[in-house]
Amino acid sequence: MKDQTCIFCRILKGEIASRKILEEMEGVAIHDVNPQAPFHALVISRNHVPDMAALFEGDGGEQIAGKLMKMAVNVAQQAGLSPEGYRMVVNSGDNGGQTVGHLHVHVLGGRQMVWPPG
Ligand code: AMP
Ligand code: ZN
Repeated sequence: MKDQTCIFCRILKGEIASRKILEEMEGVAIHDVNPQAPFHALVISRNHVPDMAALFEGDGGEQIAGKLMKMAVNVAQQAGLSPEGYRMVVNSGDNGGQTVGHLHVHVLGGRQMVWPPG
């Protein structure tokens, strides 16, 4: 199910251009348009779900979440980030800093990350 107004649904439909990295049944990995690190990708869920909590309310949520995380690991490895390390992030809700209400996993690498994050 797609949401007409959702920017990531529009990317998935091909209405908005993106730089694709990886495509699977459960999700699509693209380069972030506003990278926060030398490498910054997003693994976007194939179906429109606002966040992880919503995903787990539906059937097969655990399986899809696992697959999205696996895709994030594959993207990081494919980008050559795994020897030095990288960060996977899921922002949830306003306090989590989520700006696009369609589930996605960030993969950031190529620089030293800091903790705590901003
Ligand atoms: P979040 O703030 O966690 O919801 O992350 C949303 C991310 O989507 C941000 O890092 C944005 O830079 C990114 N973004 C927004 N629009 C696009 C787009 N058209 N193509 C690729 N990435 C996008
Ligand atoms: Zn969407």
